[in-house]
Amino acid sequence: MKESYPFQEIEKKWQRIWEEKKIFLAADDPEKMKYYCLEMYPYPSGHIHMGHVRNYSIGDVISRFKFMKGLNVIHPIGWDALGMPAENAAIQHGINPQKWTLDNIAHMKSQLKRLGYSYDWSREVNTCLPEYYRWNQWIFLKMFERGLAYRKKSWVNWCPQCRTVLANEQAAGGQCWRCDSAVEQKEMDHWFLRITAYARELLEGHTLLEKWPEHVLLMQKNWIGESEGALISFPLEDSSQAIEVFTTRIDTIYGATFLLLSPEHPLSQELIADSPEKEKLQDWIARSVREVRKKNREGEQEKEGVDTGKRALNPFSGEKIPIWIANYVLMDYGTGAIMAVPAHDQRDFGFAKKYDLPIRIVIAPEESLVAEGPLERAFEDYGVLVQSGPFSGLRSREAVEKMAEYARTRGFGQKSTIYRLRDWGISRQRYWGTPIPVIYCQKCGIVGVPYEDLPVELPHDVKFTGEEGSPLEKVPAFVNTTCPKCKGKARRETDTMDTFFDSSWYFFRYVTPHEKAAPFEPKIAAYWLPVDLYIGGVEHAILHLIYSRFFTKVFRDLGYTSIDEPFPHYLAQGMVTKDGAAMSKSKGNIADPDDMIKEYGADALRLFILFASPPEKEFAWAEEGIEGCFRFLNRVWTLVEESEDLFSGTATWIGDRPSGLAEDGLALLKKTHQTIRKVSEDIEKRFHLNTAISSIMELYNLVKKEKDILRLSEAGKRILRLTVENLIILLSPFTPHLCEELWERTGHRELLARFPWPAFDPDLAREEKVTIVVQVNGKLRDKFEADADITEQEMQERALHLERIQALIAGKQIKKVICIENKLVNIVI
Ligand SMILES: [Zn+2]
Ligand SMILES: [Zn+2]
Repeated sequence: MKESYPFQEIEKKWQRIWEEKKIFLAADDPEKMKYYCLEMYPYPSGHIHMGHVRNYSIGDVISRFKFMKGLNVIHPIGWDALGMPAENAAIQHGINPQKWTLDNIAHMKSQLKRLGYSYDWSREVNTCLPEYYRWNQWIFLKMFERGLAYRKKSWVNWCPQCRTVLANEQAAGGQCWRCDSAVEQKEMDHWFLRITAYARELLEGHTLLEKWPEHVLLMQKNWIGESEGALISFPLEDSSQAIEVFTTRIDTIYGATFLLLSPEHPLSQELIADSPEKEKLQDWIARSVREVRKKNREGEQEKEGVDTGKRALNPFSGEKIPIWIANYVLMDYGTGAIMAVPAHDQRDFGFAKKYDLPIRIVIAPEESLVAEGPLERAFEDYGVLVQSGPFSGLRSREAVEKMAEYARTRGFGQKSTIYRLRDWGISRQRYWGTPIPVIYCQKCGIVGVPYEDLPVELPHDVKFTGEEGSPLEKVPAFVNTTCPKCKGKARRETDTMDTFFDSSWYFFRYVTPHEKAAPFEPKIAAYWLPVDLYIGGVEHAILHLIYSRFFTKVFRDLGYTSIDEPFPHYLAQGMVTKDGAAMSKSKGNIADPDDMIKEYGADALRLFILFASPPEKEFAWAEEGIEGCFRFLNRVWTLVEESEDLFSGTATWIGDRPSGLAEDGLALLKKTHQTIRKVSEDIEKRFHLNTAISSIMELYNLVKKEKDILRLSEAGKRILRLTVENLIILLSPFTPHLCEELWERTGHRELLARFPWPAFDPDLAREEKVTIVVQVNGKLRDKFEADADITEQEMQERALHLERIQALIAGKQIKKVICIENKLVNIVI
């Protein structure tokens, strides 16, 4: 062991005391201002890794800071405990999934406790216990009653390695999110949640999420994929049926020279039924369905099609156009049928060229106003309509409106919005998940399990063979049941729920973790929710973060909450890397938190992981880094040890400015106030925990430099004392054990974790003057002097009121104002 302060002893001691005094238990007290700080709960894989340490250390600093600021903080933790690794362990090593999971949780919990996190352990939730997952079942039944959960036969993503179904979100790019296997397609009965009913609202809700990273909102927006356009019906020739197409470019409809159906479109089979080439066409359709399903997740594919021999009528022109079936038309987007406009859509253009279908120009570029042919490629821009009957001469944007209105008044179409978002498939053919609470009866059909019969518990005497199909299917005592309605023989659903169901609402459970009448108690939830700060990896941007938003809206519509959004503020923390790559077992570039705690202590580990980069950036692990932080903590320890004599008698307190101070004393006093201000604002406003730590280090350096001179006078000693005491307080959210010990050693009886955060004197905390340059559209136009700590608001206002700037912006529209702290204002007009 290294020469150092006795961190092992100290860390154990304070963890014990905090626990005994129950200081981190959150009381449901509506009189107090609350703060809900949440980190994404871990999957109990067996060990806490550095990504966890980073995530939880960020949350712990914020929570401890808010406690000290006097807020009623709730800082819970739990376990995302269902899912496949436990079942795989059962298959491979014959270990019971529950035992495997609970053992892992016990170990990881001890690891978290060794890190000194301020969790309220009385609120711990564990999703693999019936007392949690019964509420998954309750929520499912509520959704089922309202048509938000439904069962249908459908093509699903199937991972051959995991032998289970995957949601679209889990099969992005054609690969299994868990094991990277190529995803296959299977048709089977499946349970879905109707998340698409909230598509619009999930998009609109983004306006409430100002404190989310821009790129996360964009990822969600693309995932939901809203398109505005029109639905138009093309009647079939010699038939009363019609084909409905969705188009975003109704202005090009006079150029629709054929219709295309998806091979999976219900009409595809029907239209070829009396074709002389029926069998050949059926073979083609069957093959295309398989291949399209496989390939549409992999991107480009060779475009192919077959002519059905049937025709449809363009409702605008009355023209008869052929109906083809094409492999690039997807059934699960729009209506599964499109009008092909080869002159103005590049994909249709390629198809028309290949099969020698007509290409008709109906949009001309605005500048030329002539339709020139033949085309080299499709002209996809907006322009002016030509060869478009009464609409010729209109500009595209105007035509889009007028033509949709025309279709509406004639009854063959209307404006419409469609989404890329699909309903969420939640059925999994695995054991270690929440049983879907449904019973199949020959007589009554699909019957929900009555609420009073919940939970439907997972049976324990199960064989894990790894063979195809759910292990639950092979447990007769589970499968065979009676129908709740007619009391006849019935069969229980053996699919279990996607574990993302569990994590979509766990943050509601924390507020009343032992509630027995509902998933959570609405009144208490109304006090604690929404979550004030949610911290976690950006890999959850579209899965978990969309599902949680969806569940919140469902709870709201059920009358259980009044909030619209669960996480108004999301802090996406960056990755932890080592040797230039994400830490992973397979790459062998792991730094183990346990080893680090043994060698340097939990405080040094926490300090380093927060010090090396701001939370949202990548963090590169380096052993030298933790050594440096460890040395700093030892220096602080030594400083207090050497200054013991300062701490007898009553303390002078901050704000009490001793008279007759020498210059050194005043400099240190100012630095102390400046540091309080900087650390408070870095934590509270910017989450720049790294710069907060460096300013504490600067304060330490100044103390070191001035202390011998200050010791010569009584006033100097008082300044020294209050500086050291404040240094301990400011450092305490980061390295709570060491600081708690030093606090005690400097004569304090109360717990530092419960001590009020210091205020600063604005006069003393004022920094030096700075020069701020003002730009308009990036060009330097003026500058002004200001205090170094000027706020963005003030910077903006002063810049906009400068005479020269006023002259430049008069009558112009200001698009935005960009401020760089203490340096620059750029006005964009
Ligand atoms: Zn897989
Ligand atoms: Zn029945």
